[in-house]
Amino acid sequence: MTEGLSVDELRELDARYAMRTYLRAGVEFVRGEGARLWDSSGKEYLDFFAGLSVHNAGHCHPRIVEAIQRQAATFAGSSNLFLSAPALRLSRRLSESSLGGRVFLANTGTEASEGAIKIARKHAHRRGVETPEIISLDSDFHGRTLGALAATPKLADEERFGPLPRGFRYVPRDDAEALRAAASENTAAVFFELIQGEAGVWPIPAEVIEAARQVCDETGALLIFDEVQTGMGRTGTLWAYQGVGVEPDVITAAKALGGGLPVGAIIAGERASDVLEPGDHGSTFAGGPIQASAALAALDVLSDEALLASVRELGERLMGGLREIDGIVDVRGRGLMVGVSLAEGIDAAAVRDRCLEAGLVLNCPGPGMLRLLPPLIIEAADVDRALEIIAASVRG
Ligand code: PLP
Repeated sequence: MTEGLSVDELRELDARYAMRTYLRAGVEFVRGEGARLWDSSGKEYLDFFAGLSVHNAGHCHPRIVEAIQRQAATFAGSSNLFLSAPALRLSRRLSESSLGGRVFLANTGTEASEGAIKIARKHAHRRGVETPEIISLDSDFHGRTLGALAATPKLADEERFGPLPRGFRYVPRDDAEALRAAASENTAAVFFELIQGEAGVWPIPAEVIEAARQVCDETGALLIFDEVQTGMGRTGTLWAYQGVGVEPDVITAAKALGGGLPVGAIIAGERASDVLEPGDHGSTFAGGPIQASAALAALDVLSDEALLASVRELGERLMGGLREIDGIVDVRGRGLMVGVSLAEGIDAAAVRDRCLEAGLVLNCPGPGMLRLLPPLIIEAADVDRALEIIAASVRG
């Protein structure tokens, strides 16, 4: 119980007052530390979800807590119309950690997508393209505001939310030829996730990634990787593109970037750095000193080479263990971004619920699938414990 509200009372408030956008589990987490969570009854859980890949540094990491507290007690910001050291240090840090160009700070992944779409369209208009087109991959997820939604084929439902912005098209995620065929002189960008997270952790084949780079080089379009979920060490390198050997023109980031606070970013390389000019884009809250200080602390924790090596090693241990479990028919991912498919007839949502009951938090991104996104600070014993619970929960 917190503030005198039981789980049943919270459910009533949810049913009465919250818009019905989420199907929530009947658990209230009230405390977190590292890879552990505690609910309002005091029950302890091992967290293999990390708030949807937000708490990569673990819950309440002391360096992040200290950075937030210190900045919150000093100065909470005065808009983007004045210089601000935390925001500019963060921009430099993001640039130096990746593509080397300019950075736009945002608040969320969706906003980073929107800004990247604007950059792609303006870049195309400058090349004389009148009707720019952005190509994404089937099952991509880029967010839920209208532009990002239009690049998110599964949710871009014209009947419910139309008219959606024009100028978006999709190709299968595993077909390099289809991507080449879809490209034309109107292509403004090829925009996709290197590993599709919301769809259930589906790595994009190397030949599709290479074809995307080639298509962009040939047409003058921008290659944009959505690193909102794959970034911040999740796959064992700070940015996932650093593990695939293809450099994009732009990456978008969010989720774990803010160390638990809402921070998004668009990071450009040389070709896309100078597209946005004064008046083209902006945001009141973005880059505020409290969020930026949290992000700098999160980057300190997650850029550590020993931690990234551990992500790769524990990812192998986790995937190896999952492959041994009867009832799991496919295991995929990189680092600690792992998806599994279950044998036909096994109800993945029921497996997730049994895991929760047994003290393991994980996610069911769709029928027959589970997704594992633990904090990156987990240890081998945590992986082994999670495997035991998952094996028992798949058995039923
Ligand atoms: N892009 C990807 C790959 C995501 O996974 C998400 C969120 O799940 C988003 C964009 C949207 O981010 P946000 O929910 O912060 O707006």
